[in-house]
Amino acid sequence: MSRVSVDLSGKVAFITGGASGIGRGLALQMAQDGAAVVVTDLDSVQARLVAEAIAEAGGQALSRDLDVRDAAATSEAVATTLDRFGQIDFVFANAGVLGPAEYLEITGADWDLMLDVNVKGVVNTCRAVVPHMMERRQGRILITASYNGVRAGAHVIPYRVTKAAAIMYARCLALVVAPYGITVNALCPGVTLTPMQLDYAVETAAKQGVTTSAYLDERLAHIPMHEFTGLADITGLAEFLVSDSARLITGQAIAPDGGVMISS
Ligand code: NAD
Repeated sequence: MSRVSVDLSGKVAFITGGASGIGRGLALQMAQDGAAVVVTDLDSVQARLVAEAIAEAGGQALSRDLDVRDAAATSEAVATTLDRFGQIDFVFANAGVLGPAEYLEITGADWDLMLDVNVKGVVNTCRAVVPHMMERRQGRILITASYNGVRAGAHVIPYRVTKAAAIMYARCLALVVAPYGITVNALCPGVTLTPMQLDYAVETAAKQGVTTSAYLDERLAHIPMHEFTGLADITGLAEFLVSDSARLITGQAIAPDGGVMISS
């Protein structure tokens, strides 16, 4: 099977939530394609391990402890990246949190956390890097949203609402930066078996009194193409969106999800 192949040498990628799951996959892929990668995360130990894995494979990477809820710290991380590498070509505003599923169990603190990370964290990340990209009149911004930002459902409501906000933010920001040749798109992965998704599966299966594997089989049955999203499905799309071939694709919510987003 053929796959997208891009040469990103000389490019610099800045990734939030890069220590685990999808962010880690994006970091490793960007580095494998030749980009220098700045891996940021709340979990500095895991972020460092990702940067070390990139360096061991012959790539260039830095890791940095970053809580995207902190706008000043986010700007500082961008400034450090610019000091070190001189430019940022791609931003992956990827850090995200899920939270409780059941309506009556969701607290005000859960809402605050998801709004702060999934919405304001994205805003902080983009706001920190956009002036630099405007100055250079180039750049690609990819915001990790979700099919849940488009599909309504009775569970994980704050998550859906914050991911919908992330998609709308991508659409609006795309208009702000379009005159500068910068694109902004929302990546909307399908069900991807990362630590976030697996923790959710274990917890939900236990509540339903079924095994995790039975619960996951049930999820799979509801995916129109009956496949979970693999990291390569997401990183392949990201490679295309940062490539020259995608220079006019902006303000889109694109879902490598086997049809979940369009199903009811
Ligand atoms: P994950 O839990 O494996 O990774 C999320 C990372 O974000 C973690 O390393 C975590 O430490 C980091 N993070 C959390 N809060 C942070 C903060 N305040 N500041 C900085 N970093 C923080 O989960 P994942 O599945 O890889 O999720 C990555 C993104 O993909 C999230 O935005 C998530 O909502 C989205 N997503 C996931 C799926 C899925 O099925 N896994 C589907 C659609 C969208």
